[in-house]
Amino acid sequence: MKTLEQLVRPNIRKLSPYSSARNEYSGHVAHVFLDANENPYNNPYNRYPDPLQQQLKERLSLIKGVAPENIFLGNGSDEAIDLVYRCFCQPGIDNVVAIQPTYGMYQVCADINDVEYRSVRLNADYDFSAQSLLDACDAMTKVIWLCSPNNPTGNDLNREEMEKVLARFDGIVVIDEAYSDFSQQQTFRTELPRWQNLIVLNTMSKAWGCAALRLGMAFASKEIIDIFNKVKYPYNINKLTQDTVLEALESTCNVQRWVSFLLEERQRVIDALAPLPICQKIYPTASNFVLVKVTDAQDIYSCLVEKGIIVRNRHRVTLCENCLRITIGTRSENNELLGALRVYSHENAE
Ligand SMILES: *Cc1c(COP(=O)(O)O)cnc(C)c1O
Repeated sequence: MKTLEQLVRPNIRKLSPYSSARNEYSGHVAHVFLDANENPYNNPYNRYPDPLQQQLKERLSLIKGVAPENIFLGNGSDEAIDLVYRCFCQPGIDNVVAIQPTYGMYQVCADINDVEYRSVRLNADYDFSAQSLLDACDAMTKVIWLCSPNNPTGNDLNREEMEKVLARFDGIVVIDEAYSDFSQQQTFRTELPRWQNLIVLNTMSKAWGCAALRLGMAFASKEIIDIFNKVKYPYNINKLTQDTVLEALESTCNVQRWVSFLLEERQRVIDALAPLPICQKIYPTASNFVLVKVTDAQDIYSCLVEKGIIVRNRHRVTLCENCLRITIGTRSENNELLGALRVYSHENAE
């Protein structure tokens, strides 16, 4: 592996970060705060929040099994995705490699940052070989993006191949585990001590039911986390989010209940979809959604929209022709979807 020195953009390496008022006094007990030009009134919203979210990281550390110094918190995982580019990729010079199809934000952020995005098609089973990704790399490749379970396909990627990428690639490997709470596959968080070049992403937006709060996590070596902290906006996680997520983290039993219910529902939905004549293939899933190949994705999508039911039309995505991505909802939402699809099948039978 290249050293972090070699991987980090030169301007970021040299950057002396903004030092916020709340960074500088740490270690002392203070009670008069006349340092940040805040209004002394309107408690508790008058004060800037903790820029490094220590309390939240300590709680997350226990749940995720990763030390606080190895955790970065962002305004959604999307902030961490963008930071990967801003910290490691020189616009117009460096490139990144990713599987295709996968989560769209990796490419959007590459485009925004003017970084070349190289994609390597998955095989017919929506899996990949390490060699195919490594073949797409050159001396300017800084990052490889992996997503497991993958979005929009839903499946776990082959773990041995992911490990081969970690072992053989000389740059940063990001493994996005946004859906890992729904998967049986072991998380890569526990592998962090083994791989200096690994960044694992998690989010509060899926299994934890907190998409509105915007909290994403990156787990990595202390050196990488320090770089992220240097580049991020000083107060990137607002107080309402920090407080509300702390509360949500007290109810881990909710999450376990939700996940096991959603997995049961997922099976029920799959069993009900399979016999419908419009259903051509249901892809294996390890997440809270299923990718379904249908007879006419455009038409079925529009019909569902007319009934106020929104699924994700992936027809135009590489390798997903005529595919709809269906999120598992409540029992009654799922029933409504299944009912609408049964009616459609009936009306469109030849
Ligand atoms: C939904 C999703 C996320 C979550 O993004 P947030 O910004 O944390 O809401 C991240 N990665 C993938 C692959 C996703 O599908």
